[in-house]
Order: sequence, then C-alpha cells, then structure tokens
Amino acid sequence: MIVMKFGGTSVGSAERIQSVAQTVKASLPRGPIVVVSAHSQVTDLLIGLARKAVKGQAEIDEVRERHLKIIADLGLKPSLVEKLLNELEVLLKGISLVKELTPRTLDYVLSFGERMSVRTVAAAFEKAGLQASPVDAFDLGMLTDSNFGSAVPLPEADNIIAWNVKRFEKLPVVTGYIGKNKDGDITTLGRNGSDYTAAILGAACGAEEIQIWSDVDGVCSADPGIVKNAHSIEEMSFDEASELAYYGGRIHPATLVPAVKKDIPIRLKNTYRPENPGTLIRRRAPVRGIVKSVVYKEDLFLINLVSTRMLLHHGFMSRIFEVFGKYGIVIDMIATSEVSVSLTVDSDRNLEPAIRELADIAEVQVEGGKAIICVVGEGIRNELGVSGQVFTAMKDAGLQVQMISQSAMSINIAFLVNNDQIPAGVNALHETFFGKRAEPAPAGAVAGPAR
Ligand code: ASP
Ligand code: MG
Repeated sequence: MIVMKFGGTSVGSAERIQSVAQTVKASLPRGPIVVVSAHSQVTDLLIGLARKAVKGQAEIDEVRERHLKIIADLGLKPSLVEKLLNELEVLLKGISLVKELTPRTLDYVLSFGERMSVRTVAAAFEKAGLQASPVDAFDLGMLTDSNFGSAVPLPEADNIIAWNVKRFEKLPVVTGYIGKNKDGDITTLGRNGSDYTAAILGAACGAEEIQIWSDVDGVCSADPGIVKNAHSIEEMSFDEASELAYYGGRIHPATLVPAVKKDIPIRLKNTYRPENPGTLIRRRAPVRGIVKSVVYKEDLFLINLVSTRMLLHHGFMSRIFEVFGKYGIVIDMIATSEVSVSLTVDSDRNLEPAIRELADIAEVQVEGGKAIICVVGEGIRNELGVSGQVFTAMKDAGLQVQMISQSAMSINIAFLVNNDQIPAGVNALHETFFGKRAEPAPAGAVAGPAR
C-alpha cells in the first residue's frame, strides 16, 4: 500500500485533476490511498472571507465560483459541493452576526476547502474510470488534540485509522489538513498540513511509501532561481530532510515525524513529470559527497546583547531565554562570548516589548535584513575542515561571515550574512561543494526558499 498526496496546485484545475487521475491509475497495483489539499489558493480565500465576515460582510461568491468552475470544466454536477457551500454561507453569516472569530471557528471555515476538493476529485476519478470515494479524514479516525490551527493526532488515532482503512472497497480520496477533536470540533494541522496528513495515514497503515506530489521536482541542491546549475537530489536521509524543512523546503516539517517513527520512506514527486523518480527520503540514504544542499533563510533579525555587568554571571542566559520564551519568540541561531550573546530571530513580532525587558540586564542592539545560509549533508559529520571550506568560499566571494554555528553532532553548518549577499554566498558554496562553475543568477532574480 502507498499513500499519494496531491497539493493544491496539482488539484487546482480540471486539467490538473484529470492528469492526477492518470497518475493514480498507473499506481493502482500498489493499492494507493489518495490525500488531497484544497484547490490552490482556496485556503487563503477562506481566511479572507472569515476576516471579512468578522467585519460584518458575509459573502462566498469567489469561493463558489472557483469550485463551480472546476466542476463545470470536469463535466460534473454542482450538487457535489452545493450542500457544503450553503453550510459555509450560513457559517459566515453567523460570524458576521457575532463579529467574532475564534481559532475553533476559523478551523471550521478552513475545513471547507479540503472537504469540497475531495468530493470533486473523487467524482473526477470515477469519471476517469477509477472506483473512488471521497472521505473526510475525521471519518477515517483522524482524531486530534484541540490545538486549533496546529493540531496533532492523538495516540489512539493510529489504530482507528488502520482499522477503518481496511474496510474501504473503493479507493479513498481523503481530505488533507483537517481532523476532529474528541468533542467533535473540526481542527486543522497547520498551513500545508496535507503532507502531515499523508504521513500520519501512511504510518498508521504501515504503507510501503508516502508520496508527496507537487508541481516541482524533488529537493534541489540549491534554489534554482539563484544557482543556474542546481541539480535535484535523488536520495536524502530523514535528518537531512528535517534540516531542509526548516529552511522552507518542500514539505511541512511535522511530516517527517510519523515517517521516521515507523521508518517509512517519503518520495517527493512532480505531477508534471511523473516518470521522474523525484527525491527519496529514508533512514539510510547513501552519503554522497560532503554536502547535499545549500539553503538559506532571509529577512532575519540579529540581536546583540552585551551584559551590562561586564561578565556573564549564571543568571544572564536563563534570563534571556525566559524573556524570549515569555513572548513566544523563537531563536534560530545563537553565539556567545564572555560578555555578549548574539542571536537571530525570524520575525519582529513581540520584539519590542522583549527588548525593553532585556534592556534591564544588557545593552541591546537589533539589526534587520540578515540571512542564514546553511550547508546540509550527512557527510559533514565525518569530514574535518568543512567550516574552513565555507570560510574560504565566503572570503573568495568577498563576503563577511557575521556569525557561524555548527554543533558537535551536526550535519549542517550555518552562518549569517546580509540579505543582499545571498546570491553570491549560495553560488560560491554550491561551486565549492559541487564543482562546475555556477553562473550568477540573473539580475533581479527573486530569492526564495529552496525548492
Ligand atoms: N490547504 C491547506 C493550506 O493551504 C493545506 C495544504 O495545502 O496542505 O495550507
Ligand atoms: Mg500545499
């Protein structure tokens, strides 16, 4: 058995859905369970509608048209989603009356995206000659905690799911992203959570493979928008993949958790090129070379804290972490000396009040416009002097490294530069570790996460 998950773009139009049907058909001998996201952009649309409703404006025209167009293009009947559209309309009216949007109600609103798309996709599959039925994940046993907006499955969910899946005669087309808590309220697993759904189902059923299908090839050795000759990576380890997930890579970071636990490989595939093997993520991926990928994260803030008591005494660090913890600020990278601490955070949310508190114990300085560039690979573990190579590459590219971090066990080396140094830095490192002369990115190339 395999799980095949298709993202929003892969089910974003009638044409894409028809091509997904063919891809699934070709995999029928492997006994697939299909997981799908809402059609592309629908979740964002629903968030917009919910926010408008709080301001007293309840209308669903845009969402209705988006769904009915796809349904008409597929030659299917509007009745497939009519009931859900009406329910959504009533819900938005309710929000517009009470002028209040709790996290629970927002999850309820967002669930309509996936609930409508499975109905359309399953009907399209039937039309293409597959025996398929739409399934809401909660009816399959996707039981979660009550953390609306970022729910996780309860331990008992696994057994219920495994038991329910066995009873399906037709191919199940399951909603990604959503579940229900014990009170029967709908929850969501966090943005891009359909990957996570696929992994949870795959782990519960002991699938032989979890496939994540999207509109690009698997993971690349660097952002192809920046490094012209970036290549796609055939295989990587779970550890490498979880480092990359943090840098905005291809999958929802939590996806790896169930897969690692049950040791089920994940394969990232491209719906436009199903013949391409994509990237395989598994426990014992072969270590090839030193580095697998050069990634980056931009628009960070560097915070320098110099202890006003001259020497760091034991309470200093704990006080710093306490303040950041209190304001829910996540620290990315940290370096310390005798009298100072430098750290980076990825947003300025709550930064002001936190800094005001820290000013009691330290002189605080904040600089924006920073980026972390990071090289990732299991090979780094066994290789001495990788940081030397990184420094040399940076020096030759005329860049100044402002901070560096590598932990003893680590499979990555990360360092801090200015945002505008990303293209030069990433290209220099790609060239260092993969040879071949990398051509500089064209002027105006948009920096984005590695895809
Ligand atoms: N539809 C949800 C989102 O846009 C979940 C997903 O696409 O995986 O975040
Ligand atoms: Mg998605």
